[in-house]
Amino acid sequence: MNAIELERRYSAHNYAPLPVVLTRGKGAHLWDTAGRRYVDMMSAYSAASHGHGHPRILAALTAQAERLAVPSRAYYNDRLGAFLEELCTLTSLDAALPMNTGAEAVETAIKAARRWGYRVKGIARDHAEIIVASGNFHGRTTTVISASTEPDYRDGFGPLTPGFRAVAFGDLAAVERAITPQTAAVLVEPIQGEAGIIVPPAGWLAALRRICDAHRVLLILDEVQSGLGRTGAWFAFEHEGIRPDGLILGKALGGGVLPVSAFVARREVMDVFTPGSHGSTFGGNPLAAAVGLEALHVIRDEGLVEKSRVLGAHMLERLRAIASPALKDVRGRGLWVGAEIDPAVAGAREACERLLAKGVLSKETHQTVVRLAPPLVIARADLDWALDRFEEVLRELDGTRRTRAA
Ligand SMILES: *Cc1c(COP(=O)(O)O)cnc(C)c1O
Repeated sequence: MNAIELERRYSAHNYAPLPVVLTRGKGAHLWDTAGRRYVDMMSAYSAASHGHGHPRILAALTAQAERLAVPSRAYYNDRLGAFLEELCTLTSLDAALPMNTGAEAVETAIKAARRWGYRVKGIARDHAEIIVASGNFHGRTTTVISASTEPDYRDGFGPLTPGFRAVAFGDLAAVERAITPQTAAVLVEPIQGEAGIIVPPAGWLAALRRICDAHRVLLILDEVQSGLGRTGAWFAFEHEGIRPDGLILGKALGGGVLPVSAFVARREVMDVFTPGSHGSTFGGNPLAAAVGLEALHVIRDEGLVEKSRVLGAHMLERLRAIASPALKDVRGRGLWVGAEIDPAVAGAREACERLLAKGVLSKETHQTVVRLAPPLVIARADLDWALDRFEEVLRELDGTRRTRAA
């Protein structure tokens, strides 16, 4: 059996991968088993923001792996403190709780918000509510999908966890209407990634901050995908000059080599956790801490935030200049763009398959959107090469529409 057959035969069928078998990666490039090179315009949903096999991150990984990897948090270790200090400095928040995957850090945020609601705000026991946005993506655990409005994510997995209330993304009046004395937190992505890179109206986040303050509700931002330079700022909340009460990070925090996530918060929020109330066997292990700290330092030292801002503006400008009936909308911020394909012309899946054939790796989201989100280390020439291929694909799609119509 070849690699595709083997994976199909023995894996759960919870993904529908594009037909390419990857075997090697370096920077913004990936190679398949036939030796063909691709430009990565996906970066593992931001997990590979540093590019593949970053030498400094590999050096930190191997040096720490040889010294000490997983002693558990039954003891202190000599790597965790510096990592958490850097997270707090960068975010202007007070304390951080390390986990592994994004979903676990979201779970941590939900637990923090609920306990804060009971112990600090005085909400009646087991009545805390968290307001979320429709179309959200916060991960795949049973509680987290309970906050989702996506039937694909929820169907057949009940009974779901109560305590979430969804309002339209970007709708401030709906948030105000949804707030009750039981509301502990508003939990949102500053830009919705999996929903199709949905950018809210300017001023939305700043207004949300004011609403939360007025009603004594925590503002918790899920920046698992938008954080760490992706939008051309360290964190998307900086674009609106606000600070959240709690922040969820993951994906790029692992430098493209490990799952590393964290919930970062104001002291008053974090202090609801006491010994025994929350934890993770692997969370905060020295290997993850060494890699996470190096991942942050590489972003700083290589100017990846600025690079994302400059190259992202260039990418948006190029895409917006394309006149193609197949291209319905282009939106995004930094090196994070959603290109909406007109479903009357083609599906986004077809566009991604055509890109693959030309040596560009992307992935569709929600049938109509092609995600263009390369590693932040991508060279301008490689980005332009990939965008040239995307233009070719659009021209092909326009051509097939004319043929089909004829
Ligand atoms: C990917 C993602 C998550 C979940 O992260 P996992 O590591 O897959 O559990 C949570 N929130 C957002 C915004 C994400 O993009």
